[in-house]
Amino acid sequence: MKPAGALGNAAMHLPLATPRTKRCRACKRARPLSFFWREGRDTRCKVCRTLYMRHWIATHRESFDAWQRAYKERNRDQIREYHREYQRRRRALIRAGKWKVGSRRGPGTRPQA
Ligand SMILES: [Zn+2]
Repeated sequence: MKPAGALGNAAMHLPLATPRTKRCRACKRARPLSFFWREGRDTRCKVCRTLYMRHWIATHRESFDAWQRAYKERNRDQIREYHREYQRRRRALIRAGKWKVGSRRGPGTRPQA
């Protein structure tokens, strides 16, 4: 036998802090864990992380370029393999008529600094 009020009490606790959400350090909003990179361990939500990275890259252009060069050097084979696989899938999609040419292009996709 269950007391009549048990279900109501449990429901009242839900809207506060369920373990599936987390507060973003930057915008202070509670977001679901899927809004955070690194399997939910990031301290900023994806929106704030993207803005932060964009700002960081803009202010540390040389460091970022150096890091990117080193990264490409370190992972050359992996990157080559990725592009090979990408082109293989792209050609297959073109043959099947499912490749949307120019769908990623458009004005304003890349803000010029
Ligand atoms: Zn945020």
